[in-house]
Amino acid sequence: DDTLNEEALNDEVRVEASLRPRSFDEYVGQSAVVEKLKVYVQAARSRGEALDHCLFSGPPGLGKTSLAYIMANELGVGIHVTSGPALERKGDLAGLLTNLNERDILFIDEVHRLNAAIEEYLYPAMEDFRLDITIDTGPAARAMKIDLPPFTLIGATTRTGLLTSPLRDRFQIQERLEYYEPKHLELILNRSARILGVKLDREGSKEISTRARGTPRIANRLLRRLRDFAQVEGDGTITQELAAQALTRLGVDASGLDAMDRKILLTILEKFGGGPVGVETIAAAVGEQRDTIEDVYEPFLLQEGFLQRTPRGRTATHHAYSYFNKKAPTSGGQ
Ligand code: ADP
Repeated sequence: DDTLNEEALNDEVRVEASLRPRSFDEYVGQSAVVEKLKVYVQAARSRGEALDHCLFSGPPGLGKTSLAYIMANELGVGIHVTSGPALERKGDLAGLLTNLNERDILFIDEVHRLNAAIEEYLYPAMEDFRLDITIDTGPAARAMKIDLPPFTLIGATTRTGLLTSPLRDRFQIQERLEYYEPKHLELILNRSARILGVKLDREGSKEISTRARGTPRIANRLLRRLRDFAQVEGDGTITQELAAQALTRLGVDASGLDAMDRKILLTILEKFGGGPVGVETIAAAVGEQRDTIEDVYEPFLLQEGFLQRTPRGRTATHHAYSYFNKKAPTSGGQ
């Protein structure tokens, strides 16, 4: 049922917004990135100028959108939010740009999915705060330039490699977000539990933090699911024992791998002799989009040492073999 789905989705969006950190102080972790951004924000503020354009990259749910909102807050400017796929026609972009106030932020999520025509239209806007538009068609057509207020474009993408280089080069500030350490996820979980009124004890928080794929959005999502288990099957408090059992039932194992992570690894191990195997082949074998494999699953499996990238494809590591109690071949693997 569409209405039900939509309601559930709206609910997700609402909860996510309520859990979003509002200031640099509330934003946990990513300290190398945050320390630099604080300097740029302070410098732009004291000069009374628009901040340089920023590109944030990293897997979904690591806090790119949150950072954009925080930057607007800390700069004391407005923020206008859109996404690459939503900007279909030049008029959409022109409408947004001409409505900006001086120094405002325009946030474009999935900026790598802008179409080529819009992208070219964006170049003079980013570089010279100018829009080149054509009025009329045929012999009467004439070019016009519209001056825009100085503004800051913040783009978010899963991988900078997905951007064309002319677009990428126009972002003066480029920062990559990393997966979070459990201790930082614990802080995020504790704050979320306070906001949502969920009883989460220390060991419970620790348990979730090691099983949330280093991702705040996943940690918060698991927290909400575990609250249901605590309410129905426990005494209302999320303890270590309750968290461990419920997470396993949710398909999240002790290392935080979910069903798709395991499917990908087992496919490589069992169907392709441990690899090397191309990502396209893996995607077809597990029935998932290639992009999703590359943006969501692979980065985590690489970071956790289950997978390796080689010029000939992906290979399972010794760690992957031992994880599934399988014997690694003596040659190959790592
Ligand atoms: P992205 O834009 O990278 O997909 P979001 O900024 O939408 O990620 O983050 C998803 C959710 O995770 C946010 O609503 C927020 O609750 C939480 N979150 C992300 N990063 C942090 C952080 N550094 N500190 C606290 N909460 C965070």
